[in-house]
Amino acid sequence: MPVLPIVPDQAAPARDPRPGLAGLGGGELAAWFAERGEPAYRARQVSDAVWDRATTAVEDIRTLPAALRAALDAAFRLDTVGDTELRLSDGGLTEKGLHRLSDGALVESVLMHYPARGGQRERHTLCISSQAGCAVGCPFCATGELGFGRDLETAEIVDQVRHAARRLAADGRRLTNVVFMGMGEPLLNLDRVLAAVDALNDPRRFGLGARHITVSTSGVVPGIRRLTALGPPFTLAVSLHAARDPLRDVLVPLNRRWPVAEVVEAAREHAAATGRRVTYEATMIGGINDTETDARAMADLLRGDHAHVNLIPMNPVAHTPWTASPDEVIERFAAILGEAGVTATIRRNRGQEIGAACGQLAAERAGEPAPAVVARRRARLVDESAHALRGERSDEPVPAGVGE
Ligand code: SAH
Ligand code: SF4
Repeated sequence: MPVLPIVPDQAAPARDPRPGLAGLGGGELAAWFAERGEPAYRARQVSDAVWDRATTAVEDIRTLPAALRAALDAAFRLDTVGDTELRLSDGGLTEKGLHRLSDGALVESVLMHYPARGGQRERHTLCISSQAGCAVGCPFCATGELGFGRDLETAEIVDQVRHAARRLAADGRRLTNVVFMGMGEPLLNLDRVLAAVDALNDPRRFGLGARHITVSTSGVVPGIRRLTALGPPFTLAVSLHAARDPLRDVLVPLNRRWPVAEVVEAAREHAAATGRRVTYEATMIGGINDTETDARAMADLLRGDHAHVNLIPMNPVAHTPWTASPDEVIERFAAILGEAGVTATIRRNRGQEIGAACGQLAAERAGEPAPAVVARRRARLVDESAHALRGERSDEPVPAGVGE
């Protein structure tokens, strides 16, 4: 499998128009073969190859005659993220992947290995991207700083998973969990994300149990409602960060469109309809959203809910004036939630990898913005957060591309 150093300065090529095979529903492939007068079992042969965790090119599908292979190759791609650079950290327990897509867009996935412990079996969790960049623009997030690039195609989402599964399979291991916590806001690319989840969940395709798939959202209320109407295909995580609107307006700019009470209400309806607990994420930023007032506000907001809170110390990101909250402050925050009956877990290390590793490599490749730009951004954040901490709502607009 190609594992290449990716250089940043290549001219962006045109996007490859051929759809990725892993993004097709079963019917599309069957229709393609039927049009050519081929028997139905051909579609099955291709599908088996796509999902067998070994095949990386149409050329490798030896069950197909050569002429059909050539026709299939002209119409479809088998691997949309083949061009990948891997970087190991955490003593090999974390593998960060930077994938270059056909048009040069860069996206990240992160594979985390959790060795067996106590009664728990070993786990291998992959954090994947749903968009190149993100329009929401949370100021503490490396992806948010990049701005929006484009939506990923279904195959580009699924192929991040196939790529990791292939690497694991080479060592006789299996992927156990997939989380949509990489680059992008999954609920702003929901059709493709749902098609990807369908492929991952389908026992005849990737075959990963719904409970092992988590979709994280910054609070796109219509998207959460759409998921609720569909039933429980996976676990929902909501990036809360703050329970007070003025602060959340700054930390998650789409709060200006869907305020926190609406987000939590939609998440509650999801929990009630699916019987699944909602996970809330809060990135803990020193002196910003970690005060006792904030802890109490969050406790009041979630009291009595079927919910769990993950508290994640902020991973340092360039261009913000902020750093992680100290451990004892996060512990106090968790204790206040606990007193209100809201369970909370502090995710110190790997939580950071999940939450923040994605976006950082791509931001690095995008290059450093000019010092004046960084200074302006920092000054704006200091100003906005000072207003927010005084309880004043933001008069900044809703980010473009969010919430029509
Ligand atoms: N857009 C979605 C999913 C991708 S972000 C969302 O926001 O939920 C996944 C998680 O990483 C979110 O909870 C986000 O708040 C968190 N995150 C982003 N930047 C971070 C940072 N610098 N430190 C810690 N967590 C971060
Ligand atoms: Fe987008 Fe999520 Fe990053 Fe916010 S935290 S900018 S929603 S990827």
